Amino acid sequence: MYSIHDEEKIKELFEENKIPKFRYAQIENAIYKNFVTDFSEIQTIPKEIRTFLNENFYYTSLEVDHIVTSENGQTTKILFKTKSWDLIESVIMRHLSGRNTLCVSCQAGCPMACTFCATGKLGLKRNLEFSEIIEQIMYAAKLLNDEWAVLRNVVYMGMWEPFLNYDNLKKSIEIACNQKKINLANRRVTVSTCGIVPGIKKFMVDFPQTSLAISIHAPNDEIRKSIMPVDHTYNLEKLMTALDEYVAKTNKRIFYEYIMLNGVNDNIKLAYELGKLLKWRLAHVNFIPYNPWEWAWWIEYKATPRFLIEKFQRVLDEFWVPSTIRATMWDDIDAACWQLANKKNEEE
Ligand code: SF4
Repeated sequence: MYSIHDEEKIKELFEENKIPKFRYAQIENAIYKNFVTDFSEIQTIPKEIRTFLNENFYYTSLEVDHIVTSENGQTTKILFKTKSWDLIESVIMRHLSGRNTLCVSCQAGCPMACTFCATGKLGLKRNLEFSEIIEQIMYAAKLLNDEWAVLRNVVYMGMWEPFLNYDNLKKSIEIACNQKKINLANRRVTVSTCGIVPGIKKFMVDFPQTSLAISIHAPNDEIRKSIMPVDHTYNLEKLMTALDEYVAKTNKRIFYEYIMLNGVNDNIKLAYELGKLLKWRLAHVNFIPYNPWEWAWWIEYKATPRFLIEKFQRVLDEFWVPSTIRATMWDDIDAACWQLANKKNEEE
């Protein structure tokens, strides 16, 4: 059986079975525009083709293991079980402006071992197929459609590192931004990386319109290395050189993620270092308040108090570097992107 999102395979089997090509457009329309999940319900194609689809393709390989919505209704977390029994997460964030955003995973687990992250402690289980990434997006798009809402943004910021699963990432973005399919605007798709330089270089060529976010988390190598092992391979000099190249080629602003860890990377001197690093660069910093893990007792970091994050932000203002403090929409549902999966893994 093949995924219904595998257009090449469908077309290949259609050719072998002498099914006219135009039938694909009808199927594509039913799946992506009308959110049909059962092939038997595609009334625009003959019964034999519906049977053919049922015999050869599946709509989704993901099973919803758990779904939970925050009390304010803004955030929904979905824990999926893959066909290999790995747990992965997606998070839907509903904004009052209608800017509904989905955070997807493109790996089960993560090999990057950042010290503040429970997913990193689990290590990499496996890369997800492009179809598994699209299945997460289609699940959220349908769920929102049932609420008369529209999915506008997708961020590859769940369980990752996306650039270590580049081919599947690429294929999934192509489907997500294809007008005949999910039809997201390129600039409304954001890929977040911890700083894999070869991935950044490929990405700027393949997707110059798609947004890029960098988990920077420290303004110097000494601290960055101590919390993000990736800095041993791609230090700040290599990273910033690649990012300067990216901006020169795409003229796009880069989002820098900075998780605030009390006593680790929140000294006010570091705000000045960060300001100097990003001054004159096309940058926007997102400060992420750390969400201490109830479920990951081995991680000992503490959250930076709000007043200190605001002080940090004011220093960046002095350098004319725009920044925001990320709202925590989801405190009641274990919602730092990968938290639910970790909790389940802990329980099993
Ligand atoms: S923070 Fe991101 S890159 Fe680092 S270990 Fe966690 S999931 Fe991986």
